[in-house]
Amino acid sequence: MAEQKIADSMSADILVVGGGIAGMTAALEAAEAGKTVVLSEAKPSLGGRVAATNQYFPKLCPPSCGIEINLRRIKANPSITVLTLAEVEGLSGGRGGHEARIKLHPRFVNEKCTACGDCEKACEVERDNDFNFGLDKTKAVYLPHLMAYPFRYVVDPKHAGDPRMKKAAAACAYGAVELDMKPRTLTLKVGAVVWATGWKPYDAAKLDRLGFGRYRNVVTNSMMERLASQSGPTGGKLVRPSDQVGLKKVGFVQCAGSRDEKHLPYCSAVCCLASMKQATYVRAQYPDAEIHIFYIDVRAPGRMEDFYVKAQEDKKLFFHRGKVGTITEVEGSRNLVLEAENTLTGELTKTEVDMAVLAVGMVPNTADEKPPLDTPLDEFGFIAPDTGKGVIGAGTVTRPLDVASSVVDATGAAMRALIAAAEASAAGRN
Ligand SMILES: Cc1cc2nc3c(=O)[nH]c(=O)nc-3n(C[C@H](O)[C@H](O)[C@H](O)COP(=O)(O)OP(=O)(O)OC[C@H]3O[C@@H](n4cnc5c(N)ncnc54)[C@H](O)[C@@H]3O)c2cc1C
Repeated sequence: MAEQKIADSMSADILVVGGGIAGMTAALEAAEAGKTVVLSEAKPSLGGRVAATNQYFPKLCPPSCGIEINLRRIKANPSITVLTLAEVEGLSGGRGGHEARIKLHPRFVNEKCTACGDCEKACEVERDNDFNFGLDKTKAVYLPHLMAYPFRYVVDPKHAGDPRMKKAAAACAYGAVELDMKPRTLTLKVGAVVWATGWKPYDAAKLDRLGFGRYRNVVTNSMMERLASQSGPTGGKLVRPSDQVGLKKVGFVQCAGSRDEKHLPYCSAVCCLASMKQATYVRAQYPDAEIHIFYIDVRAPGRMEDFYVKAQEDKKLFFHRGKVGTITEVEGSRNLVLEAENTLTGELTKTEVDMAVLAVGMVPNTADEKPPLDTPLDEFGFIAPDTGKGVIGAGTVTRPLDVASSVVDATGAAMRALIAAAEASAAGRN
């Protein structure tokens, strides 16, 4: 496996765009079937959103379980070339042969980096930590996360030109920090393209009545993953953002914006299970805390029903059939009052909690960043089921999916890419 040390012009059987669990799976399946693959990731590391979760349902194992196995397979496979900080600027051609133009943004840290951290210690410039949703800061030269691949520091491009960064560069005994590194562009001929650019959380600030951004103790489900993680902003201690005090009563607001014509009309399939999982995070640290989950109806398909049944055994976990319409803050305590309407009886309830978690849904990144080649999208911006036109979607860019289903979907996408690449090869176009 080669990473970033590549020629300006190259060819491969398959290009996979997006290095989350779906992209890594598609790349591995294709490479293990004997094809050459370029795996192109926009961020400084592979891993995608799974790397930011604390534990996965249903088994509640840490994300390292799945990601490290895949990384080990990728590192061991010479047929996969990994590009990070890579942006597909152009893609031409069609079924049977494509040419991609890929811009490699500078990392400002070269392959001599040993991840010793001396640059970070010497660095005097800070940045908001996007991996932790801005809940804390990192130095401007930082390691993307603990499972990062490549396991190498990166300089935030916004700060590379800051004269104070020279001190961080000088602290590196290996000459790895190169603040004048320039972008490069490479051209790549491939037989097929898999698009696995994943999802982002629905913007909770658009849910005006739920107080996100206005009240500090209203967080999203993705933030909750980071708050519970040992590598998160509080070292894994679940506390209220406003005063760092422990939790006594937590409210989970299901379908925050989901199944709502004004926001996300669809169900994101994972949010009910994610909240039940996050209830276990609360329970592990606070045996006496009350947990209240407000739902329209609970979605736990197939074997996931077992996970729901287990959650119901918790005597202090209360499921309320009710859609939360408004959250208000209590002056002084900064507690939150959740006003809900029972969707069956119409009864209105008010519940005071010390922290509220909005279970916001998944928005495909393709909703804003259209995939190339006029790839057909559905009405919500997900890549439509393979029509033979454009790129081949894999994972949550095709519909909301959990990790296991993303892996299955990506395996199918790899299979379709193998067929398209074989056609290209037979036609002599790649
Ligand atoms: C709160 C929450 C908790 C969850 N918990 C669980 C759980 O416990 N168990 C479970 O099974 N599922 C869980 N999920 C679902 C899980 O996160 C997804 O199934 C998984 O992230 C799908 O992986 P993916 O590769 O499709 O997308 P992503 O993880 O989003 O990966 C996409 C990758 O593509 C990259 N990318 C984006 N745009 C570009 C571009 N233009 N060019 C190149 N690269 C790009 C991204 O940087 C990223 O690395 C949860 C979801 C939520 C919302």
